[in-house]
Amino acid sequence: MTNSKEIKALLSFPKDIVIISHRNPDGDAIGSSLGLKQYLLRHNHAVKVIVPSDYPDNLSWMPDVDRILVFDNEPDEVKEAILKADIVFCLDFNALDRIDKVGDIVAAQKKAFVAMIDHHLEPEHFADYMLSDTSASSTCELVFDFIAHVLEDQSTIDKIIGECLFTGILTDTGSFKYSTSAKLFRIVAELLEVGVNDYLLQDLIFNSLTEKQLRLLGHALYNRMEVIEEYHTAIIALTKDDYVKFDIQRGDTEGIVNFLLKMPKIKMAAFITEQPKIVKLSLRSKGDFSVQKIASKYFKGGGHKNASGGYSFQSLSAVIDKFKNAMKENKEALLTTSLS
Ligand code: 5GP
Ligand code: MN
Repeated sequence: MTNSKEIKALLSFPKDIVIISHRNPDGDAIGSSLGLKQYLLRHNHAVKVIVPSDYPDNLSWMPDVDRILVFDNEPDEVKEAILKADIVFCLDFNALDRIDKVGDIVAAQKKAFVAMIDHHLEPEHFADYMLSDTSASSTCELVFDFIAHVLEDQSTIDKIIGECLFTGILTDTGSFKYSTSAKLFRIVAELLEVGVNDYLLQDLIFNSLTEKQLRLLGHALYNRMEVIEEYHTAIIALTKDDYVKFDIQRGDTEGIVNFLLKMPKIKMAAFITEQPKIVKLSLRSKGDFSVQKIASKYFKGGGHKNASGGYSFQSLSAVIDKFKNAMKENKEALLTTSLS
């Protein structure tokens, strides 16, 4: 592990720290950022959390969530905080283009020590310290490792920090359905031992849909789903008109793509949305079939083997055609890879 001693030494005295996570932050982005923030506060650091765009409502119970600086709303404050910082933590992303214009500010600053903690494939090397483990379930799991093993300070992890870290573990594993390991369950046991209430958190995070969101899910599955059995693939595409009709806001479409994988034969699922400036793709797969390869080769994106995303500036119908073409070009892999 490079520069472990350096970061440990740096953190042994109070510092000015910013923690940055990715655009459209999810439970892992916000959970890892707020969990690390709470930990650093216990050691008297001054800490600000920054994200490019707003966080979803189902995380509004998290500690200090309303003090997160959102670049879209407060660009000047974000810039000032980054330029002033001694240490910049980059959590749950591994390339500066995942944080839009915030990435330009991080790249331009010369003062801060940059530390990246992440679990996505193909990391870029922009940080002075990197804890990158693509076998980890979540960045929250790695923040636990960072505190417990790099800083050798597990005893500081209390219930509040534990709730933050549990949140990202829960959301990135889909409630312990994917990317689990014996090591992860041991960490979760440690979190329960410091007082984390797993049932309560599952309820807060997942039983949080509005009537509008449930009706949108019904519309997506009933009217917008295409199943291409021959290729073990299913697609849901939402149009601009759907966005108007259902008044779709950020977060309203979260998790819809996963429903496609409930069909036993489906190995690849795509959720494609026509947004104001781009068409966005959310890709999922089962077993050995890698949607990370599809996202990076065809749609300027990336992520994990079984959960990736990308985008395009083409029209919705052109993107659907391109996706189907990608599906055909990968027919061999789709037909032969095993599901387990
Ligand atoms: P989701 O489909 O839930 O938005 O994202 C699934 C995974 O793909 C996440 O790990 C996310 O970080 C990654 N991802 C989503 N969109 C993009 C993108 O445009 N570029 C890259 N590099 N990764 C993405
Ligand atoms: Mn993550």
